[in-house]
Order: sequence, then structure tokens, then C-alpha cells
Amino acid sequence: MLCEACGYILTGLPDDSRCPECGQPISDSSPTLRHLPDWEIDNTAHTEIRRFWRTTAAVILHPTRFYRTLATRGHRNKSREFARTHWILVTLLFGWTGSLQLLWMLGITSWAGTPAWARQFYDLSNAGPIGSGLLLAIIGFLPCCALTYAVLIGATRLAARLTAWEARFRNIRLPHDVVLRGLDYHSPHYLPVAIVAFLTVAGYQLLLVTGILDDLSGPRYLYILCAEVFFAAAYLFRTYWTGMRNMMFANR
Ligand SMILES: [Zn+2]
Repeated sequence: MLCEACGYILTGLPDDSRCPECGQPISDSSPTLRHLPDWEIDNTAHTEIRRFWRTTAAVILHPTRFYRTLATRGHRNKSREFARTHWILVTLLFGWTGSLQLLWMLGITSWAGTPAWARQFYDLSNAGPIGSGLLLAIIGFLPCCALTYAVLIGATRLAARLTAWEARFRNIRLPHDVVLRGLDYHSPHYLPVAIVAFLTVAGYQLLLVTGILDDLSGPRYLYILCAEVFFAAAYLFRTYWTGMRNMMFANR
């Protein structure tokens, strides 16, 4: 039994006393404070979809409380399913956003400044509605989806390896399985990032198509996108850190 605030070993001390190292009440480190998230509790009162979104909201709105009360050593079957659903949602959203951005970069959104060969090659009006839909999917959507999913899987695996490796080095209670379970529940944090990115890219193109903004606004738009990438990275790292910080001395 460890103090969940500082990692001091509490075994043998009375339940109503305080941690000799940091002064935190020992009852705050009780294993009974940790439980399965809504998603993992088969509850006939809530459908699976409802449990999915309740857990998603708990992770996004109250990450500290969520990780502070998460049973860290549960099975990964359910948590992996939770993460996969989020990854698929985010992949579809980023695939869509990426293909829109690609079309803008190719100059197709506004047609102005597009080289003649590209205009001919991507002339969607000649391809008919089904043909242009397929063409858009092939040149944009599918590669963007594949790239997003690969990055999500790759980043998660890398983060899990590095975290578990550092934890072992520093004698922290975060074995690889526990880290992976924690990262499964970190997956909802990609959702706000994907939504903001989609709204930015799609919103900008809507403003272009309706003529509210002209092509000269391009550089400013790219600055905004760059700033969003920076804030997204900071947000994802911060929430990852909150998760690991609140799991690393977990007693259950
Ligand atoms: Zn302590």
C-alpha cells in the first residue's frame, strides 16, 4: 500500500493516521476509492452507447477525478474496445478534415491559382457525381484516414513503451499493461482536437466558397492552423500527464 500522493510505503500504519512523508490522510489512498468506469460496468439501466458517452464525458471534463478513481489493474478487453471506437471516430473526422485541407492545398476549393493540368485532372464536373465522390475519396479521404489511424496507433504504442520504461527506471508503479489501460482512456482527448480542426478547416472553406474571405486570407488561416497544432499537442500531453500522475501510485 502506497501513499497515492507521494508514493511513500504505508503498509502497517493505522487507517486513520496521515502519511508520514506528505501528511495526506491515509484514507485518501484507500484501494476502495478506485473502481471500474461506467463503460466497464454491465448495467441494464444504461445502454452501451450511453455508458460510452458517460465515460467519454467523465474523461474529457474531469480527467483528474477520472484517473484518481480508475481501477488501474483491470482487464484491457473493454478499455481497448473503448479506445478503438474513439480512434475510429477521430480517424473519420481527421480523414474528412485532411481531405478538405488537401483540396484547398491543390487549389480546388476556390479554383483560383490552380495550374491548368491540375484543374483538368481534378475537374470534378466531368466525372459526374459518383465519379467525383470516388475521386475525392481516393485522392483525399482514404489516405488521410490511413495516416491518422497509423499515427494514433504508433503514438500510443511509443508513449506506452517510453512511459513503462521510465517508470521502471524510477521505481514507479506503472507497468506496460497499466500504462496501456490508462492510454486507452486517454483516447477521448483526441475528440475535441479533431472537432476543432474540422471546424477550422471546413469553416474556412465555407467562408471562401461564400465569398466572405478571399484567397489572400490563406497565410493567416495557416497561422491559425499552426497555432492549433501547438495547442493540441500541449493539451494532449497535459491530459496524458494528468492520467499517468494519478495512476502512478495506485493501490488498485
Ligand atoms: Zn504521502
